[in-house]
This record gives sequence, C-alpha cells and structure tokens, in this order.
Amino acid sequence: MKRSPKVKRQALKRANGCCEQCRWPAELWVKQYMAEDNLTRARAIAAICELKGWGGLTSLLFVDHKIALALGGADAVENTQVLCHPCHQAKKDLTKIAKCKRVSNRRATFEARMREKAGSDDHETNGRG
Ligand SMILES: [Zn+2]
Repeated sequence: MKRSPKVKRQALKRANGCCEQCRWPAELWVKQYMAEDNLTRARAIAAICELKGWGGLTSLLFVDHKIALALGGADAVENTQVLCHPCHQAKKDLTKIAKCKRVSNRRATFEARMREKAGSDDHETNGRG
C-alpha cells in the first residue's frame, strides 16, 4: 500500500513528538536520553525500547491510518493518528477483533440466506422439469 511521506511528516509535526492517544512524550524522552548519556538518536531509541521491553523498534512513534488504506481510508493527514508502540499494538488488536466480527457476521448472513434458499427450494422442486 502506497503511503505519502509528506502525510507522515505532517502527522508527526502535528503530534509534536507525543503519542496522540496517551500523550506519552516520546520525543522528549529521546532528547533527554541523548543529552544525559551523550547517545546518538538511534542508540537513545534503542535504550528506551530496552527499558520498556519493546525490543527492536527503530522509531517510537507510528503514523497510523485511522481508517486503514486497505479499507478505503484516505492517505491524508486528517485520517492519521500518531501512536506510541503500546497504543499502536492496541489499535492493531482492535482491528483484528473488528475483522473477526465482520467475518462472523458475514458468515451468519450467508448461512441465513442458505437456510432461506433451502426453504424456498422445497416449494419449487416440483415446479421444475
Ligand atoms: Zn500511546
């Protein structure tokens, strides 16, 4: 899925270094780690991830599409939210739950339709041939 780097930049600018869900000031943490321990940005992020037990992240904030692009959401800054790792994970889990619900709803509708069809077939079988 194509994402515009410009949208990403605009979203991060709007978030001002904080998670837009829980308001965790990620950027402030990075700056503090860099200043206190004289670390590079990458090393500061790695140190924060280690402390938080997140492991292997190269960025602390994620630009997430509120309505996923795959579901027809626009790749526009209004459709984005900047999330920290835990908020991003929580959103992903929610999306998964929503997807499961949609699938099971669809199956229920399908089964109901098949039952209806089976019912009406009973009446029509004699009419054919
Ligand atoms: Zn957050």
